[in-house]
Parts: sequence; C-alpha cells; structure tokens
Amino acid sequence: MLRRTPEVLACLALGSNIEPVARLRAALAALKRLPESRLLKVSRWYRTRPWGIEDQPEFINLAVTLATRLEPLALLAETQAIERALGRTRGQRNGPRTIDLDILLHGEQTLDMPELRLPHPALTWRDFMLIPLIEIAPDVVHPERGRPLAELVDEIRYRQIIAPLSGADAQEAGCEPGVEGVSG
Ligand code: AMP
Repeated sequence: MLRRTPEVLACLALGSNIEPVARLRAALAALKRLPESRLLKVSRWYRTRPWGIEDQPEFINLAVTLATRLEPLALLAETQAIERALGRTRGQRNGPRTIDLDILLHGEQTLDMPELRLPHPALTWRDFMLIPLIEIAPDVVHPERGRPLAELVDEIRYRQIIAPLSGADAQEAGCEPGVEGVSG
C-alpha cells in the first residue's frame, strides 16, 4: 500500500533588495504552486536595513508558512529552483540579491549538513527572520530551544527592521494582510 509522507509545517524567510516588490510577488506566486504543499500564511512585508554590507539598497523581508509533504532536501531543491528562476546569482556574500529563500523550520526536524541546516541557525538572531515569523506562527515550538517562537525574542542579536510596509506602499505591493495570505 502506498503511504504518503505526513504533512509538516515548514516556515520560510524571503528577502530581496533588487526590484524587491516584483520579485517577492513572483516568489509568492511560485510558492503557491509548489508540489505537495499548501501555502498557509504570509506575514507583513518589512523594510530592513542591509546586513553585512551596508552600502546597498534596503531589503524587503517577510515570512511564510507552508503545509508540505516534501522532505527537507526536496523543499530546498524547490526553493533554490525558484531563486534561479527569479534571477538569483551567487555574487558577493551579504551583497545585493535578487531573491533569497531560506528554510527556517521544517517541522521538528534538526539537520546539520552544509547544504541544509535546520532550524536555520540565524532564525532567532535576526529580527527580520524571527519577527515576521512570530506574526504568523507564534506558537510553533523551536525544536532546539523547546519553546514557542514568541518567547525567543530575547535571543535577537541583529536589529535590521525599519518598519512594515504600510499604506499605499503595501497596497501597491499587494501585501495588505489577507491579500497574499491564503488561509487553511
Ligand atoms: P545564502 O547565499 O546565504 O542564501 O546561502 C545559501 C546556501 O546555504 C546554500 O548553499 C544552501 O544549501 C545553504 N543552506 C544551509 N542551510 C540552509 C537553510 N536552512 N535554508 C536555505 N539554505 C540553506
């Protein structure tokens, strides 16, 4: 008998600072079409200061949750295919980037491989990863800390968030809450 892999909750971080609105919209559209997966929630879009190299345009960062039957490495292959399709090239480390998709959590999985570390090691250090995710998944338990994400804000070391996109900017981006979000 064919047994299907159970669905798990996966959490992703998205970021871009080269034509970010168009790229993030395209990335969300691609995530809605992921095989074996359902896009559940999308956070607000946050304007953030560049990290590492400061002399580059602001970023926009956001988080999403997915219910997926893809194994972690299969999900990574899909997110990397989306990055390539949207023009990602690996240039300067921490430099401008067309699009970056990171897997923050994949259920309770912990992994320490060069190509995939889970939970993402920077999840609790970087406000632009943790804060958007708390907005949509506050009760999800961090598998290494054993505590819900909403209780881990004290671990933030890098504060890059300027503000959530709001008003006309958010409307233009199509990212008012509920516009990109898909429930259930
Ligand atoms: P970056 O250029 O910072 O996006 O790093 C991309 C590299 O990090 C890729 O080679 C990935 O295989 C690797 N990587 C390790 N852990 C993760 C993760 N949790 N999510 C996405 N990429 C990861």
